Amino acid sequence: MRIDVITIFPELIESFAAVSLIGKACDDGLLAITTHDPRQEATDVHRSVDDAPFGGGAGMVMKPEPLFATIEQADCPRPVIYLTPSGRRFDQATARELAAGDGLTLICGRFEGIDQRVRDELVDDELSIGDYVLAGGEVAATVVIEAVGRLVPGVLGNAASVEEESFSHGLLEYPHYTRPAEFRGWQVPDVLRSGDHARVDRWRHAQALLTTARVRPDLLAERGGLDKSDRKVLAEFGLLDQLPPGFGSDDSS
Ligand code: SAH
Repeated sequence: MRIDVITIFPELIESFAAVSLIGKACDDGLLAITTHDPRQEATDVHRSVDDAPFGGGAGMVMKPEPLFATIEQADCPRPVIYLTPSGRRFDQATARELAAGDGLTLICGRFEGIDQRVRDELVDDELSIGDYVLAGGEVAATVVIEAVGRLVPGVLGNAASVEEESFSHGLLEYPHYTRPAEFRGWQVPDVLRSGDHARVDRWRHAQALLTTARVRPDLLAERGGLDKSDRKVLAEFGLLDQLPPGFGSDDSS
C-alpha cells in the first residue's frame, strides 16, 4: 500500500515511519510511505506556502498553487484526504475501508488551514481525528497511517488480534491479564485460569458489554442495546447490577 503525505514538516512523518510496527512494514515492502514538501514547489524567492486571508482576520492560509503542483507532479494516489477538524470523524470502520484499498494521500494543513479551492477541486475526502484543534495535520496523519497500516494484511504478526479488538463487534475490548497470576496480592480472575474456553469466551463477552455500557453507552445503543443473551451472560458472572442506570431494566434501551 502506498501512502503519500503532503507536509511542510516531512521529518515528522519520516521519523514516525522509520520505527516500530510501521517502520518494519515499510522495510518489508508492505507499506511505502512517501513525503512531499509543498515548499519545494513554491515559486517565489522566500519559498512561501502561505499568505494572508482574503476578507481579513487572524492567521495565514496555505496557498493553492504549491499544493496542486505537489500532488499533480507526484501523481499521488487517490483518495486524496485533507486532515481537518471540520472533516467527518475518523474511526475504525474508515480505517478498514482505507486498508482495503491500495493507497491514499494525506494533506497536512498548517496555520489556519488550506485554500478552499484545494478542498473543492482536489480533495476527495476530509477526516478529523477528534474534536480538538492541533497546530498541524502531521500528528493526525500519523494516527491515520498507524490505524490503517496495521490492518494491511501481513503487517501484524497475528491477524486474529484484529478480529477481537475494540470496535470490531461494536463493543470495547475485555480486560487482559498475563503472568504472574498474583501480583501484590491482586489475583487474575479464576475463570481465565480454569481451562474452560467456552466459559472464558462468555466472561470476556460479559466484560466487554459491561465496559462498553459504562464508558461508551452510545456504542451499545448503536448496536441495539442489550439483548436476552447479553443479559444472560452478564447474569452468569453476577454483573447485571453493575450496569449503569438505564441498562439495568429488562428493556433493551
Ligand atoms: N482553522 C482551523 C484549524 C487549523 S489547525 C479550524 O478552525 O478548523 C491547522 C491544521 O491542523 C489543519 O489545517 C489540519 O490539517 C490540522 N488539524 C488540526 N486539528 C485537527 C484534527 N482534529 N483532525 C485532523 N487534522 C487536524
